[in-house]
Amino acid sequence: MSKKLFVPGPIDVSEDVLGKMATQVISHRGIEASKLQENITKNLQKLFFTKNDILLSTSSGSGLMEGSIRSCTLKRAAVLSCGSFGDRWYKMGISNGVPVDLFKVELGKAIEPEMVDKVLSTNKYDTIMVTHNETSTGIANPIKEIGDVIKKYDDIVYCVDTVSSAGGMKIEVDKSNIDICLTSVQKALGLPPGMSLCTFSEKARQRAEKVPNRGYYFDLLSIYEYMKNKNYQYPSTPSLSHMFALNFQLKKILKEGLENRFKRHEEMAKVVRLWACEHFQIFTDVNYLSNTLTVIKNTQGISVSNLNKKLQERGFLIANGYGDLKEKTFRISHMGDYTVEDINELLINIDDILGF
Ligand SMILES: *Cc1c(COP(=O)(O)O)cnc(C)c1O
Repeated sequence: MSKKLFVPGPIDVSEDVLGKMATQVISHRGIEASKLQENITKNLQKLFFTKNDILLSTSSGSGLMEGSIRSCTLKRAAVLSCGSFGDRWYKMGISNGVPVDLFKVELGKAIEPEMVDKVLSTNKYDTIMVTHNETSTGIANPIKEIGDVIKKYDDIVYCVDTVSSAGGMKIEVDKSNIDICLTSVQKALGLPPGMSLCTFSEKARQRAEKVPNRGYYFDLLSIYEYMKNKNYQYPSTPSLSHMFALNFQLKKILKEGLENRFKRHEEMAKVVRLWACEHFQIFTDVNYLSNTLTVIKNTQGISVSNLNKKLQERGFLIANGYGDLKEKTFRISHMGDYTVEDINELLINIDDILGF
């Protein structure tokens, strides 16, 4: 396995998982395809600790972000943003003509449950969108505590973007009261990019039934109904190659053990945080640190792009800051199938280049 992509997605894919992408194609309307999707569903339900149904989408995660805000907002959506990916959800609402308001917190800070309570107490909203792991700032928002707040209100559809955390951090969908929990396959799940998936609750289904213009390709209700009525099949032609690889990778993930996998991510995070505190500073509010990536304040004023150039010569890649945080911060991801040894190898190389 060539290990080098310490950017927050896509990351290196294990050779055996990669190999499954080359499985000979089958008919997407046959019993084999149904079985494949059913197996994927069963294992994703374990990963997300949910009894809710699972929808697949042949798109990257952004497709399901767009699909969820459009399919499930009847009255008005509240997007709570703590960075670029939260902002993206708001832009999607606007460009789809969905009534939506944006609530932002300072970069590096988390979305606190109290803020959600305040927003919902206006009674203006019936959908709320929260990013779990904000990949631009390294924040992991308290989605369970936010879910507790949402429980107090009637009929709010709670959508959570777990694109950069699912598969690396524990996400308990049912306990957290989440109606739609979406993710892409190319981050902590460790697959090549090109597919995404979400959980879909009965509440989300009932809401979508009332929404008149849900679009076509990302109409979550139509994906749901097709899956239900056609024995785990997908309304258009799915990326079967991804489904073979995903099915295989989910089995590997369960074999590693979910708790072991989450622990491994936590340990990798600890190593990076320790290193970051020694040489720089952590950009993010330390009470809400992500276990899948660390965003580091460039307190030494190094040229991140130069560092990355030199790292690439040695076969590694880290990420510059995202958007406005470019050069002011840099990001090291620690997600997927990497181990603490891989992280140490990267850090030794950075130390060597920077003369630490
Ligand atoms: C990467 C990312 C996205 C975008 O996902 P795509 O699969 O590239 O569409 C959305 N949200 C978060 C938090 C991300 O990290």
